[in-house]
Amino acid sequence: MRVVVQNDKNRSSRGAGIRGGIAVLAVAAIASGCAQGAEHKAVPPAPGQQRLKAPEARALDTYATRLRAAMTARAAAAKRWGLKQVPLTAPPAPAHKPHITARKGFEVDDQEELNLPPVFTTVPTKERIVFLTIDDGAEKDRAFLRMMSELKIPYTAFLSNFLVKDDYPYFRRMQSEGVTLNNHTLTHPFLPGLSYEEQKHEICGMQKVMKKEFGKAPTVFRPPFGNYNRDTLRAAKSCGIKYAPIWDEEVFVDHWEYREWDQDLHPGDIVLTHFRGRDEWKGTMVDDMRRFLNRVTADGYAVARLEDYL
Ligand SMILES: [Zn+2]
Repeated sequence: MRVVVQNDKNRSSRGAGIRGGIAVLAVAAIASGCAQGAEHKAVPPAPGQQRLKAPEARALDTYATRLRAAMTARAAAAKRWGLKQVPLTAPPAPAHKPHITARKGFEVDDQEELNLPPVFTTVPTKERIVFLTIDDGAEKDRAFLRMMSELKIPYTAFLSNFLVKDDYPYFRRMQSEGVTLNNHTLTHPFLPGLSYEEQKHEICGMQKVMKKEFGKAPTVFRPPFGNYNRDTLRAAKSCGIKYAPIWDEEVFVDHWEYREWDQDLHPGDIVLTHFRGRDEWKGTMVDDMRRFLNRVTADGYAVARLEDYL
């Protein structure tokens, strides 16, 4: 089979070297499309992925150009936000989600029998990825939103109502950029000190607030301080919570703290940080993210979206 890629601009432009590369890519993709034959429709694409349908050279040229533009933009954003390296891109969402169970030693009585939401600190995966989770909601930093959006870094927010209720629009804007907003109780109490009914009020009350303010009651909940008991998970389950991730590392603006003895990151680790600014620590959320991203990139990790694995 012979494929001719026509692109008038290529011939006349000084950028022919780069564009030529794209043309080769286009030919390769078309060639492999032909090799599969016409009857390759049996396997549906993974969620969130679309198969390229009999691509035309022009379409692929556009795709490659867009991809290259996105990478250039990310590199420029990394420089603009003062990162040492360009953050790595996470692999596509897995076709089959991992089976997540409670971390050993973090189960409660009847965990399995009652099918209670598992408490875990790491998602089972062999990919070199970590998940960023940001808690509470005190600081509303516009520069932070711009930074994450320009760098295309996914993260998950755990909101406590008493800290976010003065500015729901800030978090709606975050949500509109693809961030999942999750439950972190109404008032951030030490839950094991409360009765079942009180815990239910804290967790399920926040579900109602989130449904009203953000249009959706989440399925993911994080107990404040990472403290919980059997009643916590029973109460959470009663109002639709399926997962209770905590964390394996915590990043602050000036240091990291680790749960494991090796003081290191691991594939699938959940990293915690907070919506905090200069009121509470010596730096901004942008400074905090710079510390986080510089470390994970230097260690060869990409930041992936937690919900893709749940
Ligand atoms: Zn918290």
